[in-house]
Amino acid sequence: MECERREASAEREEQKSGIGGNDAELIARWPGLLYDNTRDYLMWAVWGALRNLPSNPKKLEQPALLALATEITDGWHPNLRALIRASDPATAFAIDIRTSLPVAPWATSNVTVLGDAVHLMTPGRGVGANTALRDAASLASRVRDAARGTMSLHEAVAGYEAEMRRYGFQAVAESRRQFDERDPIHRPVVGRVALGAMRTGLRVVNNVPLLKRRMIAAEHRFRGIDQTPQGH
Ligand SMILES: Cc1cc2nc3c(=O)[nH]c(=O)nc-3n(C[C@H](O)[C@H](O)[C@H](O)COP(=O)(O)OP(=O)(O)OC[C@H]3O[C@@H](n4cnc5c(N)ncnc54)[C@H](O)[C@@H]3O)c2cc1C
Repeated sequence: MECERREASAEREEQKSGIGGNDAELIARWPGLLYDNTRDYLMWAVWGALRNLPSNPKKLEQPALLALATEITDGWHPNLRALIRASDPATAFAIDIRTSLPVAPWATSNVTVLGDAVHLMTPGRGVGANTALRDAASLASRVRDAARGTMSLHEAVAGYEAEMRRYGFQAVAESRRQFDERDPIHRPVVGRVALGAMRTGLRVVNNVPLLKRRMIAAEHRFRGIDQTPQGH
């Protein structure tokens, strides 16, 4: 379930200059639209396996959604819970978290796909948008190579698709693992132990520079960030 906390209602504020054409059009056609990404806002989300929740969020009205979020965050930091309580119920909504299955290679044509259109994933690992951007960068660099004559456009797109299927569905699998309701972390007693072990592990990593560097490097590799030192 997600929610936004705003300082003032959208109707009372002036639209900032330089707002994107499409956003301006949208706000003009939908007075009171709360999602205006030209102003500061804060978004929070609480998620969990449906069978572990006391009620189905998809069946609740907005105030009840906030009440559920308050209930399941019992014992969390008071500042976080204050944020939930201060949220405008009209901005709360529930969504199903979905994922995708690997796609078998297809015949390359003059139409290709990128981002969630091909490798939709859960928010686990937080790499859906990162992977969409990685797709865009990979495709753009290959199309540039084709424009320079080093390969045909067909080879450029085929090369992008083969690479994207590899890292895209690896990210899908890893993000799915973090949202697996069968994971011990979701069990009542074992879950507490698993969570405690994970926290201890992360604290150790945070305090040991070598481990910290290794973890950062592994995360960069997973996100496809080029780690070659500049100038090499
Ligand atoms: C709760 C949540 C948390 C997330 N957290 C993270 C995170 O921390 N880090 C991260 O990297 N990713 C995160 N993601 C995933 C990320 O939001 C998506 O992977 C990313 O937005 C995908 O980008 P996209 O451009 O492929 O698709 P989208 O962002 O879905 O863009 C597709 C666009 O196409 C438009 N569209 C659809 N059909 C049509 C049509 N027929 N004509 C014209 N337009 C159309 C849609 O309106 C939409 O604007 C999260 C997702 C969720 C749900």
